[in-house]
Amino acid sequence: GAACDVPSHLYSLSFVPNPDWTRAFPTQPEIQTYLESVPARTGLHSHIRTGTEVRSARYDDASRTWQLTVVDANGERTEEFDAVVAATGQLSRPHIPDLAGLDTFEGPVFHSARWDHDVDLTGRHVGVVGIGASAIQFVPAIADQVESLTLFQRSANYVAPKPDGPLSDRTRRLLRNGLFRRAYRFSIWARFEVRFEALRDGSAMGRLGQKMFDAGLAKQVASGLSRDAVVPDYALGCKRILIANDWYPTLRRPDVTVVSGGVERVEPGAVVVDGTRHPVDTIIFGTGFESTGFLAPIEVTGRGGCSLDEQWSNGAEAHLGITVSGFPNLFLLYGPNTNLGHNSIVFMLERQISYVLTCLRALVGDTRPFDVRPGAQAASNRRLQQRLARTVWAGSCHSWYKTAAGRITNNWSGTTVSYWMTTWRVRWSDFDRL
Ligand code: NAP
Repeated sequence: GAACDVPSHLYSLSFVPNPDWTRAFPTQPEIQTYLESVPARTGLHSHIRTGTEVRSARYDDASRTWQLTVVDANGERTEEFDAVVAATGQLSRPHIPDLAGLDTFEGPVFHSARWDHDVDLTGRHVGVVGIGASAIQFVPAIADQVESLTLFQRSANYVAPKPDGPLSDRTRRLLRNGLFRRAYRFSIWARFEVRFEALRDGSAMGRLGQKMFDAGLAKQVASGLSRDAVVPDYALGCKRILIANDWYPTLRRPDVTVVSGGVERVEPGAVVVDGTRHPVDTIIFGTGFESTGFLAPIEVTGRGGCSLDEQWSNGAEAHLGITVSGFPNLFLLYGPNTNLGHNSIVFMLERQISYVLTCLRALVGDTRPFDVRPGAQAASNRRLQQRLARTVWAGSCHSWYKTAAGRITNNWSGTTVSYWMTTWRVRWSDFDRL
Protein backbone atom coordinates (compact mmCIF):
# COMPACT_ATOMS: atom_id res chain seq x y z
CA GLY A 1 0.00 0.00 0.00
CA ALA A 2 2.98 2.33 0.21
CA ALA A 3 2.90 5.38 -2.00
CA CYS A 4 3.83 9.04 -1.85
CA ASP A 5 1.34 11.66 -0.70
CA VAL A 6 2.82 14.30 -3.01
CA PRO A 7 2.38 13.74 -6.78
CA SER A 8 5.53 12.17 -8.22
CA HIS A 9 5.80 14.72 -11.01
CA LEU A 10 6.73 17.12 -8.21
CA TYR A 11 8.23 14.63 -5.73
CA SER A 12 11.12 13.68 -7.99
CA LEU A 13 14.39 15.37 -8.92
CA SER A 14 13.96 18.34 -11.27
CA PHE A 15 17.16 17.31 -13.09
CA VAL A 16 16.15 13.64 -13.45
CA PRO A 17 12.64 13.91 -14.90
CA ASN A 18 10.39 10.94 -15.49
CA PRO A 19 7.67 11.52 -18.09
CA ASP A 20 6.42 7.95 -17.59
CA TRP A 21 4.75 8.15 -14.15
CA THR A 22 1.59 6.14 -14.66
CA ARG A 23 -0.61 8.05 -12.22
CA ALA A 24 -0.69 11.19 -10.09
CA PHE A 25 0.35 9.30 -6.92
CA PRO A 26 2.32 6.25 -8.09
CA THR A 27 2.87 3.40 -5.69
CA GLN A 28 6.09 2.16 -4.11
CA PRO A 29 7.39 -0.20 -6.87
CA GLU A 30 7.21 2.58 -9.48
CA ILE A 31 8.97 5.05 -7.15
CA GLN A 32 11.65 2.50 -6.30
CA THR A 33 12.29 1.81 -10.01
CA TYR A 34 12.69 5.56 -10.56
CA LEU A 35 15.07 5.97 -7.60
CA GLU A 36 17.14 3.00 -8.70
CA SER A 37 17.50 4.55 -12.16
CA VAL A 38 18.90 7.82 -10.79
CA PRO A 39 22.54 6.79 -10.16
CA ALA A 40 22.90 5.37 -13.67
CA ARG A 41 21.22 8.39 -15.26
CA THR A 42 23.39 10.86 -13.36
CA GLY A 43 26.70 8.99 -13.52
CA LEU A 44 26.80 8.69 -9.72
CA HIS A 45 27.29 4.93 -9.66
CA SER A 46 31.07 5.07 -9.46
CA HIS A 47 30.92 7.44 -6.47
CA ILE A 48 28.63 5.33 -4.30
CA ARG A 49 29.81 2.76 -1.76
CA THR A 50 26.90 0.71 -0.52
CA GLY A 51 26.89 -1.57 2.52
CA THR A 52 29.01 0.97 4.41
CA GLU A 53 28.04 2.36 7.79
CA VAL A 54 29.47 5.53 9.30
CA ARG A 55 29.87 4.99 13.06
CA SER A 56 31.46 8.30 14.00
CA ALA A 57 32.67 11.56 12.49
CA ARG A 58 35.37 13.56 14.27
CA TYR A 59 36.72 16.94 13.19
CA ASP A 60 40.48 17.09 13.63
CA ASP A 61 41.53 20.63 14.54
CA ALA A 62 45.16 20.13 13.55
CA SER A 63 44.62 18.79 10.03
CA ARG A 64 41.23 20.59 9.58
CA THR A 65 39.76 17.39 8.20
CA TRP A 66 36.96 15.02 9.14
CA GLN A 67 37.92 11.56 10.35
CA LEU A 68 35.12 9.10 9.61
CA THR A 69 35.00 5.68 11.22
CA VAL A 70 33.39 3.46 8.61
CA VAL A 71 32.40 -0.19 8.76
CA ASP A 72 31.86 -2.45 5.79
CA ALA A 73 32.39 -6.09 4.86
CA ASN A 74 36.15 -5.55 5.22
CA GLY A 75 35.85 -4.36 8.81
CA GLU A 76 36.25 -1.01 10.56
CA ARG A 77 38.69 1.75 9.59
CA THR A 78 39.12 5.52 9.70
CA GLU A 79 39.05 7.60 6.54
CA GLU A 80 39.82 11.29 6.07
CA PHE A 81 37.66 13.85 4.23
CA ASP A 82 37.78 17.63 3.71
CA ALA A 83 34.02 18.02 3.99
CA VAL A 84 31.07 15.87 5.00
CA VAL A 85 27.53 16.11 3.64
CA ALA A 86 25.13 14.22 5.89
CA ALA A 87 21.88 13.11 4.27
CA THR A 88 20.65 10.73 6.95
CA GLY A 89 17.06 11.98 6.84
CA GLN A 90 14.47 12.67 9.51
CA LEU A 91 12.44 9.49 9.06
CA SER A 92 14.98 6.71 8.74
CA ARG A 93 15.06 5.08 12.19
CA PRO A 94 11.80 3.34 13.16
CA HIS A 95 10.36 4.17 16.58
CA ILE A 96 8.99 1.23 18.55
CA PRO A 97 7.52 2.28 21.90
CA ASP A 98 8.88 0.66 25.00
CA LEU A 99 5.66 -1.17 25.93
CA ALA A 100 5.58 -3.24 29.10
CA GLY A 101 5.26 -6.95 28.37
CA LEU A 102 6.15 -6.69 24.67
CA ASP A 103 8.85 -9.31 25.16
CA THR A 104 6.20 -11.79 26.41
CA PHE A 105 4.22 -11.62 23.14
CA GLU A 106 4.71 -14.84 21.22
CA GLY A 107 3.46 -13.91 17.73
CA PRO A 108 5.17 -11.92 14.96
CA VAL A 109 5.99 -8.30 15.81
CA PHE A 110 7.43 -5.79 13.35
CA HIS A 111 7.48 -2.09 12.40
CA SER A 112 5.92 -0.94 9.13
CA ALA A 113 9.28 0.37 7.89
CA ARG A 114 10.90 -3.05 8.56
CA TRP A 115 8.08 -5.13 7.11
CA ASP A 116 8.57 -8.83 7.72
CA HIS A 117 7.68 -10.31 4.34
CA ASP A 118 8.16 -13.83 5.71
CA VAL A 119 5.03 -13.46 7.82
CA ASP A 120 1.92 -14.62 5.97
CA LEU A 121 -0.87 -12.47 7.36
CA THR A 122 -3.59 -14.69 5.92
CA GLY A 123 -6.09 -15.62 8.61
CA ARG A 124 -4.25 -13.73 11.36
CA HIS A 125 -5.71 -11.46 14.02
CA VAL A 126 -3.54 -8.40 13.55
CA GLY A 127 -3.16 -5.53 16.00
CA VAL A 128 -1.81 -2.26 14.58
CA VAL A 129 -0.32 0.12 17.15
CA GLY A 130 -0.08 3.73 15.92
CA ILE A 131 -2.23 5.21 13.18
CA GLY A 132 -0.48 7.88 11.10
CA ALA A 133 0.56 8.40 7.48
CA SER A 134 2.14 4.93 7.28
CA ALA A 135 -0.74 2.99 8.85
CA ILE A 136 -3.39 4.59 6.68
CA GLN A 137 -1.53 3.20 3.70
CA PHE A 138 -0.80 -0.36 4.86
CA VAL A 139 -4.00 -1.01 6.88
CA PRO A 140 -6.39 -0.87 3.86
CA ALA A 141 -3.85 -2.93 1.87
CA ILE A 142 -3.86 -5.86 4.34
CA ALA A 143 -7.52 -5.68 5.41
CA ASP A 144 -8.67 -8.25 2.84
CA GLN A 145 -5.99 -10.74 3.76
CA VAL A 146 -6.19 -10.84 7.55
CA GLU A 147 -8.91 -12.47 9.67
CA SER A 148 -9.38 -9.36 11.83
CA LEU A 149 -7.74 -6.00 12.38
CA THR A 150 -7.65 -4.14 15.70
CA LEU A 151 -6.36 -0.59 15.33
CA PHE A 152 -4.87 0.89 18.51
CA GLN A 153 -5.24 4.58 17.82
CA ARG A 154 -4.12 7.20 20.33
CA SER A 155 -5.14 10.17 18.15
CA ALA A 156 -7.54 10.37 15.21
CA ASN A 157 -6.31 12.00 11.99
CA TYR A 158 -7.66 14.54 9.54
CA VAL A 159 -7.99 12.53 6.32
CA ALA A 160 -8.67 14.27 3.00
CA PRO A 161 -9.65 12.59 -0.27
CA LYS A 162 -6.69 11.64 -2.48
CA PRO A 163 -7.03 13.20 -5.95
CA ASP A 164 -5.39 10.18 -7.55
CA GLY A 165 -5.95 8.52 -10.91
CA PRO A 166 -4.08 7.17 -13.92
CA LEU A 167 -2.48 9.69 -16.27
CA SER A 168 -3.99 9.24 -19.71
CA ASP A 169 -1.83 8.23 -22.70
CA ARG A 170 -2.41 11.68 -24.15
CA THR A 171 -1.18 13.41 -20.97
CA ARG A 172 1.85 11.14 -20.81
CA ARG A 173 2.65 11.90 -24.44
CA LEU A 174 2.41 15.61 -23.65
CA LEU A 175 4.65 15.13 -20.62
CA ARG A 176 7.42 13.96 -22.94
CA ASN A 177 7.68 17.61 -23.94
CA GLY A 178 10.12 19.27 -21.51
CA LEU A 179 8.35 22.61 -21.51
CA PHE A 180 4.95 21.07 -20.81
CA ARG A 181 6.44 18.82 -18.12
CA ARG A 182 8.07 21.77 -16.36
CA ALA A 183 4.83 23.76 -16.54
CA TYR A 184 2.93 20.79 -15.09
CA ARG A 185 5.46 20.41 -12.26
CA PHE A 186 5.29 24.14 -11.57
CA SER A 187 1.49 24.05 -11.45
CA ILE A 188 1.51 21.32 -8.76
CA TRP A 189 4.19 23.15 -6.74
CA ALA A 190 2.33 26.49 -6.93
CA ARG A 191 -0.98 24.87 -5.91
CA PHE A 192 0.67 23.16 -2.94
CA GLU A 193 2.55 26.32 -1.96
CA VAL A 194 -0.68 28.23 -1.38
CA ARG A 195 -1.68 25.64 1.23
CA PHE A 196 0.91 26.96 3.69
CA GLU A 197 -1.53 29.75 4.49
CA ALA A 198 -3.79 27.16 6.18
CA LEU A 199 -0.92 26.27 8.54
CA ARG A 200 -0.67 29.80 9.93
CA ASP A 201 -2.41 29.85 13.28
CA GLY A 202 -5.78 31.63 13.04
CA SER A 203 -5.61 32.25 9.26
CA ALA A 204 -8.85 32.59 7.30
CA MET A 205 -7.82 29.66 5.08
CA GLY A 206 -7.12 27.54 8.16
CA ARG A 207 -10.53 28.39 9.63
CA LEU A 208 -12.24 27.58 6.34
CA GLY A 209 -10.31 24.29 6.09
CA GLN A 210 -11.28 23.41 9.68
CA LYS A 211 -14.96 24.07 8.89
CA MET A 212 -14.82 21.90 5.77
CA PHE A 213 -13.11 19.03 7.61
CA ASP A 214 -15.51 19.33 10.57
CA ALA A 215 -18.49 19.09 8.18
CA GLY A 216 -16.97 16.02 6.48
CA LEU A 217 -16.26 14.37 9.85
CA ALA A 218 -19.79 15.06 11.07
CA LYS A 219 -21.05 13.14 8.00
CA GLN A 220 -18.75 10.21 8.81
CA VAL A 221 -20.08 10.15 12.39
CA ALA A 222 -23.71 10.45 11.19
CA SER A 223 -23.13 7.49 8.90
CA GLY A 224 -22.09 5.23 11.77
CA LEU A 225 -18.37 5.68 12.53
CA SER A 226 -17.61 6.39 16.16
CA ARG A 227 -16.66 9.96 17.05
CA ASP A 228 -13.60 8.74 18.99
CA ALA A 229 -12.39 6.84 15.92
CA VAL A 230 -12.54 9.69 13.43
CA VAL A 231 -12.71 13.13 15.09
CA PRO A 232 -9.29 14.57 16.04
CA ASP A 233 -8.95 16.48 19.32
CA TYR A 234 -6.48 19.03 17.92
CA ALA A 235 -6.54 21.81 15.32
CA LEU A 236 -6.26 21.02 11.61
CA GLY A 237 -2.63 20.73 10.51
CA CYS A 238 -1.05 20.40 13.98
CA LYS A 239 -0.19 16.84 12.91
CA ARG A 240 0.27 15.99 9.23
CA ILE A 241 -3.00 16.02 7.24
CA LEU A 242 -3.37 12.62 5.59
CA ILE A 243 -4.85 11.72 2.21
CA ALA A 244 -6.63 8.47 1.36
CA ASN A 245 -9.80 7.29 -0.36
CA ASP A 246 -9.88 3.88 1.29
CA TRP A 247 -9.50 4.84 4.97
CA TYR A 248 -13.11 5.43 6.07
CA PRO A 249 -14.39 2.46 4.00
CA THR A 250 -11.80 0.29 5.80
CA LEU A 251 -12.98 1.54 9.21
CA ARG A 252 -16.53 0.49 8.28
CA ARG A 253 -15.57 -3.14 7.72
CA PRO A 254 -17.06 -5.57 10.27
CA ASP A 255 -13.64 -7.20 10.76
CA VAL A 256 -11.95 -3.89 11.66
CA THR A 257 -12.13 -2.44 15.19
CA VAL A 258 -10.73 0.88 16.34
CA VAL A 259 -9.59 0.99 19.97
CA SER A 260 -9.04 4.57 21.09
CA GLY A 261 -6.53 5.44 23.79
CA GLY A 262 -2.96 4.66 24.70
CA VAL A 263 -1.66 1.12 24.96
CA GLU A 264 -1.21 0.14 28.62
CA ARG A 265 0.77 -3.06 28.13
CA VAL A 266 1.16 -6.14 25.98
CA GLU A 267 0.39 -9.63 27.27
CA PRO A 268 0.78 -13.03 25.62
CA GLY A 269 -1.91 -13.02 22.92
CA ALA A 270 -3.29 -9.55 23.67
CA VAL A 271 -2.83 -5.78 23.78
CA VAL A 272 -4.30 -4.09 26.87
CA VAL A 273 -5.92 -0.63 26.69
CA ASP A 274 -7.66 0.90 29.73
CA GLY A 275 -7.69 -2.47 31.47
CA THR A 276 -9.40 -4.27 28.57
CA ARG A 277 -7.61 -7.15 26.80
CA HIS A 278 -7.83 -7.09 23.01
CA PRO A 279 -6.78 -10.51 21.63
CA VAL A 280 -4.32 -10.38 18.70
CA ASP A 281 -1.77 -12.85 17.37
CA THR A 282 0.38 -10.40 15.37
CA ILE A 283 1.45 -6.81 16.12
CA ILE A 284 2.47 -4.27 13.48
CA PHE A 285 3.83 -0.95 14.72
CA GLY A 286 2.95 2.13 12.68
CA THR A 287 4.46 4.27 15.42
CA GLY A 288 6.64 6.48 13.26
CA PHE A 289 10.28 7.35 13.51
CA GLU A 290 12.97 8.75 15.81
CA SER A 291 12.54 12.01 13.97
CA THR A 292 14.27 14.47 16.30
CA GLY A 293 17.59 12.58 16.51
CA PHE A 294 18.76 13.58 13.00
CA LEU A 295 22.35 12.28 12.75
CA ALA A 296 21.99 9.87 15.69
CA PRO A 297 23.37 7.32 16.38
CA ILE A 298 26.47 8.57 14.55
CA GLU A 299 28.81 10.09 17.13
CA VAL A 300 29.70 13.52 15.74
CA THR A 301 32.52 15.53 17.35
CA GLY A 302 33.42 19.03 16.19
CA ARG A 303 36.01 21.70 17.04
CA GLY A 304 37.79 21.23 20.35
CA GLY A 305 36.10 17.85 20.82
CA CYS A 306 32.59 19.31 21.24
CA SER A 307 29.84 16.71 20.86
CA LEU A 308 26.89 17.32 18.54
CA ASP A 309 24.75 15.18 20.80
CA GLU A 310 25.48 17.48 23.76
CA GLN A 311 25.06 20.63 21.67
CA TRP A 312 21.63 19.36 20.61
CA SER A 313 20.56 18.11 24.04
CA ASN A 314 17.70 20.67 24.12
CA GLY A 315 16.73 20.00 20.50
CA ALA A 316 18.59 20.02 17.19
CA GLU A 317 19.31 23.35 15.54
CA ALA A 318 21.31 24.42 12.51
CA HIS A 319 21.78 27.56 10.46
CA LEU A 320 19.14 27.34 7.69
CA GLY A 321 19.04 23.62 8.44
CA ILE A 322 22.42 23.17 6.74
CA THR A 323 25.40 24.13 8.93
CA VAL A 324 26.09 23.89 12.68
CA SER A 325 28.44 26.18 14.54
CA GLY A 326 31.51 24.34 15.84
CA PHE A 327 31.27 21.70 13.09
CA PRO A 328 33.27 23.15 10.16
CA ASN A 329 32.59 21.84 6.67
CA LEU A 330 29.79 19.62 7.91
CA PHE A 331 26.72 20.17 5.73
CA LEU A 332 23.28 18.71 6.38
CA LEU A 333 20.54 17.83 3.89
CA TYR A 334 16.98 17.57 5.33
CA GLY A 335 18.52 18.81 8.57
CA PRO A 336 16.74 20.51 11.49
CA ASN A 337 13.75 22.71 10.55
CA THR A 338 13.63 21.84 6.85
CA ASN A 339 10.56 19.59 6.84
CA LEU A 340 7.25 20.80 5.41
CA GLY A 341 3.57 20.17 5.98
CA HIS A 342 2.38 21.53 2.65
CA ASN A 343 4.80 20.97 -0.25
CA SER A 344 7.63 18.83 -1.64
CA ILE A 345 10.73 18.08 0.42
CA VAL A 346 12.59 17.43 -2.84
CA PHE A 347 12.24 21.14 -3.63
CA MET A 348 13.84 21.97 -0.25
CA LEU A 349 16.60 19.41 -0.82
CA GLU A 350 17.49 20.92 -4.17
CA ARG A 351 17.84 24.35 -2.52
CA GLN A 352 20.12 22.80 0.14
CA ILE A 353 22.18 20.96 -2.48
CA SER A 354 22.68 24.20 -4.37
CA TYR A 355 23.76 26.02 -1.16
CA VAL A 356 26.20 23.25 -0.25
CA LEU A 357 27.67 23.17 -3.76
CA THR A 358 28.33 26.92 -3.56
CA CYS A 359 30.30 26.35 -0.34
CA LEU A 360 32.17 23.35 -1.74
CA ARG A 361 33.10 25.29 -4.88
CA ALA A 362 34.46 28.11 -2.71
CA LEU A 363 36.67 25.55 -0.93
CA VAL A 364 38.39 24.73 -4.20
CA GLY A 365 40.00 28.18 -4.37
CA ASP A 366 40.43 28.70 -0.62
CA THR A 367 40.70 25.49 1.40
CA ARG A 368 40.07 27.08 4.84
CA PRO A 369 37.01 25.30 6.28
CA PHE A 370 33.71 27.11 6.81
CA ASP A 371 32.35 27.38 10.34
CA VAL A 372 29.05 29.19 10.73
CA ARG A 373 29.28 31.96 13.36
CA PRO A 374 27.39 31.22 16.58
CA GLY A 375 25.71 34.65 16.33
CA ALA A 376 24.45 33.98 12.79
CA GLN A 377 23.04 30.59 13.82
CA ALA A 378 21.42 32.01 16.96
CA ALA A 379 19.85 34.91 15.03
CA SER A 380 18.41 32.73 12.25
CA ASN A 381 16.99 30.31 14.84
CA ARG A 382 15.47 33.13 16.90
CA ARG A 383 13.63 34.37 13.80
CA LEU A 384 12.65 30.80 12.87
CA GLN A 385 11.22 29.98 16.31
CA GLN A 386 9.31 33.29 16.40
CA ARG A 387 7.66 32.43 13.09
CA LEU A 388 7.03 28.82 14.13
CA ALA A 389 5.22 30.07 17.23
CA ARG A 390 2.61 31.55 14.90
CA THR A 391 1.89 28.24 13.12
CA VAL A 392 -0.61 25.50 13.95
CA TRP A 393 2.29 23.16 14.84
CA ALA A 394 2.87 25.20 18.00
CA GLY A 395 -0.54 24.01 19.26
CA SER A 396 -0.79 21.57 22.12
CA CYS A 397 -0.82 18.41 19.99
CA HIS A 398 2.02 15.90 20.16
CA SER A 399 3.74 15.31 16.81
CA TRP A 400 6.97 14.09 15.26
CA TYR A 401 7.77 17.72 14.39
CA LYS A 402 8.65 18.43 18.04
CA THR A 403 10.90 17.24 20.84
CA ALA A 404 9.33 15.78 23.97
CA ALA A 405 9.73 19.24 25.55
CA GLY A 406 7.68 20.79 22.72
CA ARG A 407 10.41 22.59 20.72
CA ILE A 408 9.68 22.40 16.98
CA THR A 409 12.94 21.05 15.56
CA ASN A 410 11.75 19.51 12.32
CA ASN A 411 9.68 22.01 10.36
CA TRP A 412 10.61 25.04 8.31
CA SER A 413 8.61 28.06 9.41
CA GLY A 414 7.24 29.31 6.11
CA THR A 415 6.69 28.71 2.43
CA THR A 416 9.22 26.99 0.19
CA VAL A 417 9.62 30.34 -1.59
CA SER A 418 10.76 31.91 1.69
CA TYR A 419 13.31 29.10 2.15
CA TRP A 420 14.44 29.57 -1.46
CA MET A 421 14.95 33.30 -0.85
CA THR A 422 16.83 32.66 2.41
CA THR A 423 19.21 30.11 0.88
CA TRP A 424 19.44 31.74 -2.57
CA ARG A 425 22.92 33.10 -1.84
CA VAL A 426 25.44 32.04 0.76
CA ARG A 427 26.04 35.01 3.08
CA TRP A 428 29.76 34.70 3.49
CA SER A 429 29.66 37.04 6.49
CA ASP A 430 27.75 34.29 8.36
CA PHE A 431 30.91 32.16 8.36
CA ASP A 432 34.35 32.13 9.93
CA ARG A 433 37.06 30.63 7.75
CA LEU A 434 39.46 28.60 9.86
P1 NAP B 1 3.58 9.22 12.62
O1 NAP B 1 2.82 10.10 11.73
O2 NAP B 1 4.56 9.80 13.58
O3 NAP B 1 2.49 8.35 13.37
C1 NAP B 1 2.84 7.56 14.44
C2 NAP B 1 1.60 7.03 15.07
O4 NAP B 1 1.99 6.21 16.15
C3 NAP B 1 0.69 8.11 15.66
O5 NAP B 1 -0.62 7.72 15.49
C4 NAP B 1 1.08 8.10 17.14
O6 NAP B 1 0.06 8.55 17.97
C5 NAP B 1 1.31 6.63 17.33
N1 NAP B 1 2.11 6.28 18.47
C6 NAP B 1 3.40 6.61 18.74
N2 NAP B 1 3.77 6.07 19.90
C7 NAP B 1 2.70 5.39 20.38
C8 NAP B 1 2.45 4.63 21.54
N3 NAP B 1 3.38 4.48 22.47
N4 NAP B 1 1.24 4.07 21.70
C9 NAP B 1 0.28 4.24 20.77
N5 NAP B 1 0.45 4.95 19.65
C10 NAP B 1 1.65 5.52 19.47
O7 NAP B 1 4.42 8.11 11.80
P2 NAP B 1 4.20 7.57 10.32
O8 NAP B 1 2.80 7.20 10.10
O9 NAP B 1 5.22 6.53 10.09
O10 NAP B 1 4.49 8.81 9.42
C11 NAP B 1 5.62 9.65 9.67
C12 NAP B 1 5.83 10.58 8.52
O11 NAP B 1 6.39 9.83 7.46
C13 NAP B 1 4.59 11.20 7.92
O12 NAP B 1 4.09 12.30 8.60
C14 NAP B 1 5.07 11.56 6.55
O13 NAP B 1 5.79 12.77 6.54
C15 NAP B 1 5.99 10.40 6.26
N6 NAP B 1 5.24 9.42 5.49
C16 NAP B 1 4.91 9.79 4.24
C17 NAP B 1 4.18 8.96 3.49
C18 NAP B 1 3.84 9.40 2.13
O14 NAP B 1 2.85 9.03 1.60
N7 NAP B 1 4.68 10.21 1.52
C19 NAP B 1 3.75 7.74 3.97
C20 NAP B 1 4.12 7.36 5.23
C21 NAP B 1 4.86 8.23 5.99
P3 NAP B 1 -0.08 10.09 18.39
O15 NAP B 1 -0.49 10.82 17.14
O16 NAP B 1 -1.10 10.12 19.46
O17 NAP B 1 1.28 10.51 18.86
